[in-house]
Amino acid sequence: MKKLCTLLLLAMTITACQVSPAAESVEMMTDQQIADFDWNDFTIFEENLIPEVYSVLDTLTTAPYYLLNFELDETLETVKGTVVVRYTNNSQDTLESLLFQLFPAVYGGWVDLGEITVNEQTVDVEANRSSVVVTIPLTETLMPGSSCVVRIPFESSIPRDMGGNYGLYGYFDEVVVLDGFYPLLALYDEGKWHMNITSFNGDIKFEEMSFYQVTGEMPSDLVAITTGQEIATQKSGDMKTVQYIAGPVREFYLAASEQFVTQEQQVGETNLLSTGMQGSEDAIAHAMEIGEASFQIYTDRFGVYPYSEMDVISTPMQALGMEYPGVATVTTRLYDLNGDMNGTPNRVYLDSVIAHEVGHQWFFNLVGNDQIEEPWLDEAITQYIVGLFYEDYYGPTAAQSYKESWAERWSRVDFSEIPIGKPSYAYDPSEYSPIVYGRGPYFIEALEAEMGSEIFGEALHHYVDDFGWQIATGDDFKAHMEAACECDLTNLFNEWVTP
Ligand SMILES: [Zn+2]
Repeated sequence: MKKLCTLLLLAMTITACQVSPAAESVEMMTDQQIADFDWNDFTIFEENLIPEVYSVLDTLTTAPYYLLNFELDETLETVKGTVVVRYTNNSQDTLESLLFQLFPAVYGGWVDLGEITVNEQTVDVEANRSSVVVTIPLTETLMPGSSCVVRIPFESSIPRDMGGNYGLYGYFDEVVVLDGFYPLLALYDEGKWHMNITSFNGDIKFEEMSFYQVTGEMPSDLVAITTGQEIATQKSGDMKTVQYIAGPVREFYLAASEQFVTQEQQVGETNLLSTGMQGSEDAIAHAMEIGEASFQIYTDRFGVYPYSEMDVISTPMQALGMEYPGVATVTTRLYDLNGDMNGTPNRVYLDSVIAHEVGHQWFFNLVGNDQIEEPWLDEAITQYIVGLFYEDYYGPTAAQSYKESWAERWSRVDFSEIPIGKPSYAYDPSEYSPIVYGRGPYFIEALEAEMGSEIFGEALHHYVDDFGWQIATGDDFKAHMEAACECDLTNLFNEWVTP
């Protein structure tokens, strides 16, 4: 068992990734290649998965499929590209239009759109530089089970000021962080498009599993860390062209810097990469240790991590950390291992933030949920499983100290019994973190106590099995737990969750 130097956690604000690898040259896809593209061949995505989960490729054949080309020039002032998406209507409704979200406009930047086509026919789209959602009219009504191909050229500014939601998009301190830099499909189900980017209380994306083939042109000196797997790279003068595949994943994320250094370690079928700025090698090594430990603990408890790569990286941001598919990001501030934040050593935060963001690989990415309408479902569970990480890695005393961070948060609203189950926008900003991150994990503990630890532990593992690659709701979670304990949990949910 390892000893944690300082155990008290204070004032935490954890908050809330057709080319052939054998291709001789790495080039952007041409229009003709896109027109001839085989949307039904998923075998290339085996490179992004561990063999145990290859069969998922047979089950998600109608998921959105993105071909994304982008260019980052040496000024890093804009990212320019084209996104081509094959979208299949998996609902029971006929659709007249598709909705895309433009996150750079949310983060204080802007997006310009070029000529948009649907099935190679130009369509009229109303948008300006500050539009955060655009409606793409379809040239023909899209019937259930039918597909269309949408092509959207875009150019997104890369802001120098940290704005919008947690400062997750821009060029800061020699790192370019590109969260949602391309037009990203909104999710349609139960008769509506989910595009509720109305509040900065919590995470602002809600995405379904999708496939990405990405080709990016960027300065050769940039070290880029992304969702998915790099499969080919080719240098030409000062520029390089890199190809990535990612899928099934909920989005494609990229962070890059000339100053990034990376350490690598193979864990089972997965390559773990720990990346940070030059000069922070000790922190990068420590992040690798905690990344590996939490990876192992969650794998043992909730089943395999599905991808061939997992990244832990430090980037500048206002939050302490942020989760992306296959990527756990941690604020650069914590990579100063001798520093502290409000008197609490950075080392203490660093462990819990890494364990939290790695935990999201199971609860947020593998099991998806509506992070706007039901943020508790991934955040409260993730907070709770960080307690399991401490328990398994450092022992019960450390776990107890970590859990004091829940109490400290909840105390900021005087332990008020505000339901944890409200949409993020329905909380006062002063209540969101104390309730969802503070009170939330105590509900999961209460649920464990009600069901019994053994039954609850097995049920949480089976929840990942049953809802993995899909979307779960709070009602699904409740019904799953009730089936496991053969008991009625309504009173408990009313006491803690139900708004
Ligand atoms: Zn979180």
